Amino acid sequence: MAKFMRVKCECGNEQMTSETASTRVKCRVCGKPLVEPKGGKAVVVGGTIVAEMD
Ligand SMILES: [Zn+2]
Repeated sequence: MAKFMRVKCECGNEQMTSETASTRVKCRVCGKPLVEPKGGKAVVVGGTIVAEMD
């Protein structure tokens, strides 16, 4: 089951990512790492989660 979340970067950009992302996700505006895979689950390492959805 894919679950998605919207992550807001410190630069103000918001983008969607999967909670099961298996690759590192970077902000498409400033390039800061937002999400890293850990143990099969995506961990937010930069910015904040503003919404979660199924
Ligand atoms: Zn950014």
